[in-house]
Amino acid sequence: MPSDKAKLNKALMATCVACNKPISTESAVSLTGVEDGHHRQYTVCNACANGGWRPPGFVGMLAFRRE
Ligand SMILES: [Zn+2]
Repeated sequence: MPSDKAKLNKALMATCVACNKPISTESAVSLTGVEDGHHRQYTVCNACANGGWRPPGFVGMLAFRRE
């Protein structure tokens, strides 16, 4: 059961690496790419992800949980 307290504490902000806008992690997804041979997480807003933006070496998408 999701806790309301956790929900309030999780108003995390991030910056979309594609459009450089500040975004809430609730409206963002984490894309995994590979940079210099290492896996790296790229946080992008839903709009960019839906628009087809992908990091170099894209290997998968992880949607942030809203629970
Ligand atoms: Zn964006």
